[in-house]
Amino acid sequence: MNKNYTSTRDNQVQLPAKAAIRKGFSDDGGLFVYPELSKLKVELSQLVHKNYQEIAKIILMKLLPDFSEIQIEECIKNAYNHSFDTSLITPIKQVDNFNVLELFHGPTSAFKDIGLQMLPQLMKQVLTPEQRVMILTATSGDTGKAALEGFKNLEKMGITVFYPHDGVSKIQQLQMQTTNGNNTEITAIKGNFDDAQSNVKKIFNDQSFKQKLGENISLSSANSINIGRLIPQVVYYFASYIQLVTKEQIKLGDQVNFTVPTGNFGDVLAGYYAKQMGLPVKKFIVASNENNVLTKFFQTGIYDRNRPFLKTFAPSMDIQISSNFERLLYYKSGEDTQYVKQLMDQLENVGKYQVKPEVLAEIQKDFYCGYSTDEEIKQSIEQVYEQDNYLMDPHTAVGYKVMRDYQENDSKTPMILLSTASPYKFTHVVAEAILKQKIDDDFDAMQAINKKTNLPIPKNLAEVWNLPVLHDDVIDKDKMEDYIQQKVEADFYDKN
Ligand SMILES: *Cc1c(COP(=O)(O)O)cnc(C)c1O
Repeated sequence: MNKNYTSTRDNQVQLPAKAAIRKGFSDDGGLFVYPELSKLKVELSQLVHKNYQEIAKIILMKLLPDFSEIQIEECIKNAYNHSFDTSLITPIKQVDNFNVLELFHGPTSAFKDIGLQMLPQLMKQVLTPEQRVMILTATSGDTGKAALEGFKNLEKMGITVFYPHDGVSKIQQLQMQTTNGNNTEITAIKGNFDDAQSNVKKIFNDQSFKQKLGENISLSSANSINIGRLIPQVVYYFASYIQLVTKEQIKLGDQVNFTVPTGNFGDVLAGYYAKQMGLPVKKFIVASNENNVLTKFFQTGIYDRNRPFLKTFAPSMDIQISSNFERLLYYKSGEDTQYVKQLMDQLENVGKYQVKPEVLAEIQKDFYCGYSTDEEIKQSIEQVYEQDNYLMDPHTAVGYKVMRDYQENDSKTPMILLSTASPYKFTHVVAEAILKQKIDDDFDAMQAINKKTNLPIPKNLAEVWNLPVLHDDVIDKDKMEDYIQQKVEADFYDKN
């Protein structure tokens, strides 16, 4: 058996990709990582003239060596052949002197679909006949719906989603609350996203709770801490590069930059995986909103979460602990798991840590970081719409602002800006930006934007208003275990 994966906090841990995906999370609290990524070199010339699915197969076979070729092909077919509204899956659009990589053409109009159409398919290949798995997900809005769509009605799997009460947009909330399926559980918690995420992590580490659920029922995660969700995201970095080669905007081997609107650091970390595997990337431009913990880190080497949690116009990035940053620390410390454990213990105990100057320097080689205020988000949306007739959602607009800052010192290298959501998911801000009008009702705002721009409304977002609300639970943030227990009983015991 190929035991390719280890834990960021203990390099004695060794397990195959399948076990890493099923567990989601290492028992020592660390995340699963693939050591020495640069050994997995992808030959770029091999990717030219291949479609998304074919590129996905090449990348996934490298990162998931214990899956058979047939298993990988089946997963790719189920994940991407029917549920996206374009055959390119992640199309590139040229705007002014940069390219937008649209990652929102999946069933929920969020980039999370790319990972979350694939993760359930991988999970299905991993379970033995008697095993059952309950997926736990903390969401700041988009992960929840994307995970529900990926996992719904799959046998032997249930999914429970926790979202912050009053912390997601009206449309996001409706998208989740109207989900059908016989194994989907959704509740608001009285708390913010970090509360939801840290409580889910605690539950994963609560051995006595896991025992109570029974030996054939395991808990797993659909958050980007699960390597099975992160790996599919590596694909679009390669696929977008190949699109630029096909359009003859770049030659094979040319360097490019990627700007990535960042919250949990999963998306941009997938880009780093691509770079380690041979994609010629000069810099990753990491863009945060006013929860700019990472910007401060890049300036000082100090990661400090002791600060007020802000609700911004880009709510899917309202995060203070970027979980996947732990994975970057692992690679950039020379895969020193004791060192990473020490930093993560400090983060847990005192809410901050400082890295060694060498580690910070290594990180700065590959990454630039900046942030955008809410006011700048609105200005960017308006400006790009007026000048270039391209409509961005607020998260993409965060990226746009930081990309422009970066370009002041490097305007020559071809730039790809990742667009992480349809503008129709965050209609309040978009309407205010381009119509100069506050429209309280999300539905009215959607119609008004459509009238002004003629941009088609994605089908799933147009329909959500007419669907019945099936889930309206609200619970205390320390009642999450009880809730899960009830749902495990409902999903797995009653039916069999
Ligand atoms: C999740 C999300 C992000 C942040 O991605 P990470 O992988 O958490 O860094 C950005 N934009 C949108 C719309 C998202 O849903």
